[in-house]
Amino acid sequence: QFPFGRRLPCDIYWHGVSFHDNNIFSGQVNKFPGMMETVRKITLSRAMRTMQDLFPLEYNFYPRSWILPEELPLFVAEVRVMKDSDPSWKPTFIVKPDGGCQGDGIYLIKDPSDIRLTGSIQSRPAVVQEYICKPLLVDKLKFDIRLYVLLKSLEPLEIYIAKDGLSRFCTEPYQEPTLKNLHQVFMHLTNYSLNIHSENFIHSTSVNTGSKRTFSSILCRLSSRGADVKKLWSDIISLVIKTIIALTPELKVYYQSDIPSGKPGPTCFQILGFDILLMKNLKPMLLEVNANPSMRIEHEQELSPGVFENVPSPVDEEVKVAVIRDTLRLVDPQKKKRKDAQLLQWQVGWNGMSFGPSPPNPSVILCRRCPRLEHVPESSESLLDAVPAERPEPDAPRSPEAGLPSLCLKQVFPKYAKQFDYLRLVDRVAALFIRFLGVKGTTKLGPTGFRTFIRNCKLSNSNFSMAAVDILYIDITRRWNSMGIDHKESGMCLQAFVEAFFCLAQKKYKSLPLHEQVLSLIEFCECHLAALDEKRLLWGWG
Ligand code: ADP
Repeated sequence: QFPFGRRLPCDIYWHGVSFHDNNIFSGQVNKFPGMMETVRKITLSRAMRTMQDLFPLEYNFYPRSWILPEELPLFVAEVRVMKDSDPSWKPTFIVKPDGGCQGDGIYLIKDPSDIRLTGSIQSRPAVVQEYICKPLLVDKLKFDIRLYVLLKSLEPLEIYIAKDGLSRFCTEPYQEPTLKNLHQVFMHLTNYSLNIHSENFIHSTSVNTGSKRTFSSILCRLSSRGADVKKLWSDIISLVIKTIIALTPELKVYYQSDIPSGKPGPTCFQILGFDILLMKNLKPMLLEVNANPSMRIEHEQELSPGVFENVPSPVDEEVKVAVIRDTLRLVDPQKKKRKDAQLLQWQVGWNGMSFGPSPPNPSVILCRRCPRLEHVPESSESLLDAVPAERPEPDAPRSPEAGLPSLCLKQVFPKYAKQFDYLRLVDRVAALFIRFLGVKGTTKLGPTGFRTFIRNCKLSNSNFSMAAVDILYIDITRRWNSMGIDHKESGMCLQAFVEAFFCLAQKKYKSLPLHEQVLSLIEFCECHLAALDEKRLLWGWG
């Protein structure tokens, strides 16, 4: 710990809250720049909406959401249309203030007119979301799952999921929402921080009883009831990968702004907390992503009125210690050095001088030397078999890890890249955006950058003049900036650029479904830019 600052560079920086520290030029930081902003309720809902527009079926694990106050009229209108088309639909909605946590300021409503439009909604925007009325119950109680996910690298994308998580229980038996029980937080909200104040809260020393249990104990119970636990895990892994795919475009914009390529800087990794609710039919639904999940392994106990003491919490300890230990093992710089040295030995051995251990699998070597040749399983392989065992390397020197438990963090990406890569369209739109940002350190595109993008990609023609381009830029940018939270910089943010890009794609490829329109435009732009790069290279040489 460096309470008074730090002089020497470190291998690993473990920050408490966010990335920021201007004095890091090497090593690895446990936070990505912009992660806190990217997973805020509103930003996450926007990113998920973009993906739902492109791939509605693939992204149906996120409840339908609207952003307040700007989408209040849309929310009212859409609910009215849905109610008219299905009078038996009796929805409930949950209103969650942006940037809130621990259930703070959350309330349930039955009708859009019940939204508390006090002055505070203007100063504190919120997300209103369809409430999942039929959650899976255990012991008649609603519960949610906190899963820990390690984003080990953004480029190339590397994701690990912890084998076990926490299940956090409500403390009042669940009933479907009615006007009478809407306000009962101990029945509807699973937050630990709220339920701990209920007299029914049970601190348990066992991991499979009480108000906080391991997720594996729930899986055991479900499995004994005949549930298809393997399919459930596979759905959860898929939810995690798809969610991170929705977040990466924004993260890449922040990353290039804080750590411009070509300058000395650290790399980043981050442990994220995924909050997931299981529906009665075992479908997992994403509630939110937490950039700073609590890693506490103790809880407070009231010894006598007003006198509290911290006591160990076996459930938290079981899950969280393993997550931190394995994160450190995966990012261990010494391990990387050892692996690189071994790789070198194998390569030298292969070149005819036979010494050193033989490589366990040649495709792994190709994969390390050329990131494009990834080791991806057959698509028919079950996601659950993802769980890669640590391969003992014959004759390898005894690793300092020998004797540690096997890894609880399992790689799921790039392991399953083949099954999910088609979803990474917005990533490619973000790459175009970043290319035209121009000034290093910025996250917003100016009008000149946008014009250059249109010109270089040859998107302007007699039907779409440069004057129309300027109008498109001004319209979309003005609207996004009027509702945006970030007023520090002027210009077009990534999400506004994505909207403009979709607009251009729809204009150019009228009859196709949206994701095909967008893909066609991406390929069109990439092709023109590749030709331009080639030309520039030739001119440079000439
Ligand atoms: P916070 O960051 O304040 O904890 P969450 O989005 O996690 O906000 O919501 C708090 C709790 O409300 C969740 O743990 C869950 O129990 C409940 N909840 C949130 N969204 C929904 C939803 N769409 N349907 C049902 N329950 C929900």
